[in-house]
Amino acid sequence: MTPSYVATSRCECQASLTAQLTEQRFVVSGSALLLGRREPAPAHSVHPEKDVFDIGWLCPFCGRNTLRTFAASALTRVGRPAA
Ligand SMILES: [Zn+2]
Repeated sequence: MTPSYVATSRCECQASLTAQLTEQRFVVSGSALLLGRREPAPAHSVHPEKDVFDIGWLCPFCGRNTLRTFAASALTRVGRPAA
């Protein structure tokens, strides 16, 4: 599955959280970056069909469940839109 969007946020522990999303805003993959180390981070989207929705990450560095709210229209698009 080719991601269409990327969403990023920051954990309380200062790790950078990244999620790659499909056109429908489901999470393809998540990762976290802290002090130059990148680790996979389980992530999922909550109510991705809404204009404002949440993405939750399980931070591999501190173990927190970090939930962040995103506006669909403000997501960064990556790659090409599906024709
Ligand atoms: Zn963390």
